[in-house]
Amino acid sequence: MMRYTNLDLLKFLLFEVHPVNELFQYERFAHLNDEQVWMMIESAKQLADQTMAPHFKSMDEQPAHYDGHGNVRTHPALKQIIQSAAEQGWIGGSALFEHGGMQLPEMVFGTAHHIFQAANNGVEGYLGLSAGAAGLITSFGTIDQLEQYVPKIYSGEWQGTMALTEPQAGSSLTDITTSAKLISDNTYAIRGQKIFISGGQHEACSNFVHLTLARIEGAPAGVKGISLFIIPKFRPEKDGSLTYNDVYCAGDFQKMGQRGYATTHLSFGDNNNCIGYLVGEPHKGLNYMFQMMNGARISVGLCAASVAMAAYQASLQYCKERPQGRMPSEKDPSKPPVTIIHHADIQRMLFTQKAIAEGAIALGIACNKLYDLSHAASDSVKEKSLLLLEILTPIVKTYPSEHGSRSAALAIQTLGGYGFTTDFPVQQHYRDLKIMSLYEGTTGIQSIDLLGRKVVMEKGKALQLLLDEIQLTIEAAKQFDGLAGHAEVLSQELSRITWVLKHLQKFAANGQLERYLSDASVFLEMMSYSVIGWQWLKMAVTASLKLQSAHLPDNQKAFYEGKIHTAAFYFTYEMPHAAACASTLLAEETLTSISNFDLFN
Ligand SMILES: Cc1cc2nc3c(=O)[nH]c(=O)nc-3n(C[C@H](O)[C@H](O)[C@H](O)COP(=O)(O)OP(=O)(O)OC[C@H]3O[C@@H](n4cnc5c(N)ncnc54)[C@H](O)[C@@H]3O)c2cc1C
Repeated sequence: MMRYTNLDLLKFLLFEVHPVNELFQYERFAHLNDEQVWMMIESAKQLADQTMAPHFKSMDEQPAHYDGHGNVRTHPALKQIIQSAAEQGWIGGSALFEHGGMQLPEMVFGTAHHIFQAANNGVEGYLGLSAGAAGLITSFGTIDQLEQYVPKIYSGEWQGTMALTEPQAGSSLTDITTSAKLISDNTYAIRGQKIFISGGQHEACSNFVHLTLARIEGAPAGVKGISLFIIPKFRPEKDGSLTYNDVYCAGDFQKMGQRGYATTHLSFGDNNNCIGYLVGEPHKGLNYMFQMMNGARISVGLCAASVAMAAYQASLQYCKERPQGRMPSEKDPSKPPVTIIHHADIQRMLFTQKAIAEGAIALGIACNKLYDLSHAASDSVKEKSLLLLEILTPIVKTYPSEHGSRSAALAIQTLGGYGFTTDFPVQQHYRDLKIMSLYEGTTGIQSIDLLGRKVVMEKGKALQLLLDEIQLTIEAAKQFDGLAGHAEVLSQELSRITWVLKHLQKFAANGQLERYLSDASVFLEMMSYSVIGWQWLKMAVTASLKLQSAHLPDNQKAFYEGKIHTAAFYFTYEMPHAAACASTLLAEETLTSISNFDLFN
């Protein structure tokens, strides 16, 4: 089987760079130790090897598809995969014991899911959505709702989904029109259409619990009038029976990637018999949903990084095996060709992939740790973790999805013509990856969130905390001769962020909000280079300490040296792009806020 991730990297990140054992001091995670964590990661790898990776290609070739009668047909292996994962706790594992979970840190749960994503990203979505939907019911629902739905979701029998998008309301959830009319207590009659609903009604689960945003009749306009409902396909009755709840799957979407992952069009209440159960208080639905969306944003970012990692592994293996051409200095045609990994241009493409994929995985794991701290710690650690997570969320979602695509394109490039064929998996990785910059908030929307909200929140406190945190790594790096230069570069990049912000904030202060936000995506890209550079510097510092403190066998030595080398590569080949972004952002003339659309002719 082709390698799709690197367990040594995961061990390095979990135990050395972002030590998971720092979480065990908190009551919530006190039942864990490093050995148990690693056993779980190894068992997740085994599960992925045995059940997920073998179907990666065939799920693409036999996509989920609509049967014309309200159901989506899925790959024959899907049901068993969901059940095996559920049995091992990979749907409900991060929930509290009292809610049927294993009280695992998101760092561990998310790392296991990284393995699933790298093995078969289409399958992992079904598990992740169920985990998120059940988490939402647990956080904001009633005890009855929890008891009715959550155990069935955790067992893999029922599928959880998030139903936000409507034909006219994608990025702009303000415009949703699905309606909810009070019947009694917290029971509402629902009518409306939702599109693009992942994991919608398919044949691998027997019931579907749609966590749905709708507007209660008479609710205020805008996001303040949106409420959250549980809308099952079959509603549980008091006697334990199930009644069809008038949620019809009207069709599906055939896609360029993630073809095994059902994407459905749902119609609620065509026969006036669809009941939704209010979660929490009326009109607070979007706030509640943000819990699931924020979790999903980290997960989508990590998924993009995971797919980029799988493409990198395939590319690396090919480059070690494919003989082609000779070194520039070799003039004798009778000499055998070298394998292509000898060529500098191939090495550039391999290191670019490694820098993007591993840097993004490191950031994903760091964000999951912040999530854990924000739940398990108290007072100042909690507050700091929450703020750091707020500012990092748009970046952890967007950098891997945008640069992961670039990385997977390079994986194809390293294979030459074979990369373009369906004989090799890299083209599928490339196709699968594209969705990550679209769902869970497009790159444009994440960028506006970063520049419009996150960098200015609490008078810039989240940004300042992040800059301080990066500064700590810079100080640590200065202790090593080989890293001091990168530390200096990163330090200058932090000043550049502050300087560019000062320039842009003039526009916001003058009320020119459109101008302030017009190049938000360029700003996010610029800031991402520093954030990923921070992760690379952290990895390089950790590796340098290890090399200094222990005499390691050659293979382990090469692993740590590889981290230092890739950090150097990142600072030489990737970081300079930040200056180009800054140059665009500092331009006085705006070229992207025009009103004369004839200029596009
Ligand atoms: C395969 C797939 C699975 C999905 N799964 C789910 C799911 O499970 N649940 C769910 O609810 N939804 C799901 N979605 C929907 C997804 O979240 C939306 O497609 C996404 O939010 C974008 O909305 P849209 O497609 O309507 O595009 P639009 O909102 O029309 O956006 C089109 C373009 O305009 C840009 N744009 C829009 N508004 C602005 C603005 N204010 N400023 C700057 N640029 C802007 C966007 O960035 C984008 O580039 C899924 C979509 C797909 C394709």
